[in-house]
Amino acid sequence: MDLLPFGKLPAAKPRAFVPETADLGDWPQVAPLFDELKARAAQAKSVAELERWLLDWSELNAALDEESSRRYIAMTCHTDNAEAEKAFLHFVENVEPQVKPCQFALEQLYVAHPMRAELLKAPVAVGQKKAASPRHKTATKCRYEVFDRDVKNHVELFRPENVALETEEAKLCQQYQKLIGAQTVNFRGEEKTLVQMGRYLEEPDRALRQEAWEVVAQRRLQDADKCEEIFEALIGLRTQMARNAGLENYRDYAFRQKCRFDYTPADCVKFHGAIESEIMPAVRQIQAERREQMKLEKLRPWDLAVDPQNRPSLKPFAEVDEMVARTQKIFDRVDGELATGFRQLRDLKLLDLENRKGKAPGGYQSTLSEARVPFIFMNAVGVQRDVETILHESGHAFHAQATRREDLYAYRGAPIEFCEVASMSMELLGNEFIEEFYAPAEANRARRTHLEGIILFFPWMAVVDAFQHWIYTHAGHTRQERQAAYLELMDRFGGDVDWSGWEKMRVNSWHRQLHIFIHPFYYVEYGIAQLGALEVWANSRRNRTKALKDYKKALALGGSRPLPELFHAAGCTFEFDAATIKPLIELAGSELKKL
Ligand SMILES: [Zn+2]
Repeated sequence: MDLLPFGKLPAAKPRAFVPETADLGDWPQVAPLFDELKARAAQAKSVAELERWLLDWSELNAALDEESSRRYIAMTCHTDNAEAEKAFLHFVENVEPQVKPCQFALEQLYVAHPMRAELLKAPVAVGQKKAASPRHKTATKCRYEVFDRDVKNHVELFRPENVALETEEAKLCQQYQKLIGAQTVNFRGEEKTLVQMGRYLEEPDRALRQEAWEVVAQRRLQDADKCEEIFEALIGLRTQMARNAGLENYRDYAFRQKCRFDYTPADCVKFHGAIESEIMPAVRQIQAERREQMKLEKLRPWDLAVDPQNRPSLKPFAEVDEMVARTQKIFDRVDGELATGFRQLRDLKLLDLENRKGKAPGGYQSTLSEARVPFIFMNAVGVQRDVETILHESGHAFHAQATRREDLYAYRGAPIEFCEVASMSMELLGNEFIEEFYAPAEANRARRTHLEGIILFFPWMAVVDAFQHWIYTHAGHTRQERQAAYLELMDRFGGDVDWSGWEKMRVNSWHRQLHIFIHPFYYVEYGIAQLGALEVWANSRRNRTKALKDYKKALALGGSRPLPELFHAAGCTFEFDAATIKPLIELAGSELKKL
């Protein structure tokens, strides 16, 4: 597809199973490959044969994944190209739904395989250098431990009667998105989306900010009852799904579904408590400084996004080429190997960064799974947020580059809790050299905004997570009880913001948090990862070389080890308690004082 900035990239390894000529966007050509794998499972009579089978399955997955990514990238880079759209939709509508049951059939064959127990004796060093000496045999880890655990879990959790409920759930989620997507307001004679209204909250004119905020709040409140109705239907469906799977509540189901084997609901509850005791004082401090700088009696909800000193926005660069060159300079200073990685992205044209007409919004990092190279997409317009985004997405890209030598597709990706350590660490480590973009005073302002953003994120994460814990463990609660539970959380984590006159908006303020509706329980991952990133940063303050070495070592593990091992390899603890958080917030606080 010539719509891609990079041409045909060579596969990292020659194919051994998927024919070179196969069109992976054409289901009739893909189906026989799955059929062959299904038939061959029974023929695998040794560990070596089962491993060969897993690698062939892995090769097919990587090829399908790359096909899907190429179409997605082409579509998002050219939203105005009908051919790109058609190719993308064809894959989503005609290939993906067919692939899903085939994957599940292979998973079932794997779990029931007679050689599986033998396979699980394979040490972690398979295909790499032999590590464990006989003396340490008891400590030998199993190469397939994580893969096996996740596949087994997926098979065990599956209930045919939940398939129809999942379809219902998807429909309700779509209804929610439609409801939110249709929200517009008439503001000063013009129709505007609520996303467009966001920029008024950065306006220095307080009356204008208030007017904009209130118009949006009124509009959201019009749909409050509908949001509640959709959500109550979702709770019902989810609770039923959990019960069908033999679990007491949907929280337990969601933890299993997300393969959260390495931390429990109780750990998350402890995390919420630690945020309250260790981070809320820093949040109140930041809010108090803001209030003083703005010379206000009280902070109102429309006073939180504007620059408290009414300065014009930072302008880090004018042209995207300049952004890339300066980012390269930052990585040259962070670490030689990572700098080479970023240079590769430039050389292979694995970047589409500038905002232009006909491009999808937002930013993402995608991986071309056969070539085993990353791609970064974003919409740079010359603001500080762009610098944060390129550092963040580069961290994800370094992760993909680091796992290049891993042959098992499933292990080239890590759990989200650790993926975000890779990216968020790079924001903090890169920010150390942000003078490449700014004069010293501006560099400090950028660092301050970034660090404050990190601190202020934790309490909202705690609200979103703790609220869902409450919801799904209080079966049969009323709407009033749910509201009371939410208000209690807003009191714990909302800080010193005066909502008077807008109490109804405050109690409904979670309606705009898409995750609660569409991706239940998916949010705490960012809090866990942010702790890891702060630890990597703290380590780099003590010993930069070692911190970078550990970071790269952990990235190279991909998803081959359980979460605590990935964190430990990166030089981080895997605890979300007050003892872990305290020194990190102290470091951020003392840093803020210097800026
Ligand atoms: Zn990310």
